[in-house]
Amino acid sequence: MDKITIKNLEVFCNHGVYKEENILGQKFLVSAELSLSTRKAGLSDALEDSVSYGDVSRLITAEMKKQNDKLLERAAERIAGQILKEFPLIDSVRIEVKKPWAPVMMHLDYASVSIERGWHRVYVGVGSNMGERQAWIDMAAEALRSDGNNRNFRSAQVIETEPYGYLEQDKFLNTVFTFESLYEPEELLLRMQEIEKEAHRERKIHWGPRTLDLDLLLYDNRITESPVLTIPHPEMTKRLFVLIPLCELNPHGVHPLYRKRFAEYKEALEQQENK
Ligand code: ATP
Ligand code: CA
Ligand code: CA
Repeated sequence: MDKITIKNLEVFCNHGVYKEENILGQKFLVSAELSLSTRKAGLSDALEDSVSYGDVSRLITAEMKKQNDKLLERAAERIAGQILKEFPLIDSVRIEVKKPWAPVMMHLDYASVSIERGWHRVYVGVGSNMGERQAWIDMAAEALRSDGNNRNFRSAQVIETEPYGYLEQDKFLNTVFTFESLYEPEELLLRMQEIEKEAHRERKIHWGPRTLDLDLLLYDNRITESPVLTIPHPEMTKRLFVLIPLCELNPHGVHPLYRKRFAEYKEALEQQENK
């Protein structure tokens, strides 16, 4: 990926754990490495096809002066988030905030924090089989679409499907959402669980009836397993109600762990059903 770099932008402001730092202020140096494609601007020579490092430098300065943070971590986090939200051409950003006059009573060149943040492609499986099913799905779509940490939201068509696992229950409406997100996977899962709660979701019977179920299917090509979160979602290759809407949104998608196209899983399950 191409890069635009701003190195050691000097900003005088008042971050720090000690109150003396908040009162007297000190010098900070901020570096930013912006990852984006510069190909179009390279051919057109037009600034609107790229990102102005002057504008980014002004954003960094304003963000550094906007409030006093105790930690460099927090200042770096705010700068990264603002840059990604305000400059849509940027896919990811590395930010380093240096404190050359860190008050530690020893000599050092500087203390610094560097972080890398970016937009992540996410797929969410959606299901409802209680109450106003379509309304719960619309509510979830709106909540995720309007969240400032998400962008480019799209939904597949909603399909009606027979229950899965626990069969003594009403038919489901299912779909898949995709969007780009600044949330880390666990944060996004928590956000999805809040939305389920807003839909009065109760966990009674495993695979039982629910107003709203939001499963994190895919997060980039990330593969993780923990007690609270497994991605890719372990059941997704066995479920037509996931694969049909997923393949509509991403017809050429490949499973990051098994390296097989989702369309192949879908076709195999459809053939099985037609036997
Ligand atoms: P299934 O996950 O087989 O579709 P379910 O959706 O009915 O079943 P839930 O009761 O909604 O299961 O979730 C049980 C737990 O699964 C949650 O508390 C959550 O921590 C965990 N979990 C693990 N991986 C994921 C994931 N990728 N998406 C959503 N929840 C997950
Ligand atoms: Ca589920
Ligand atoms: Ca779930």
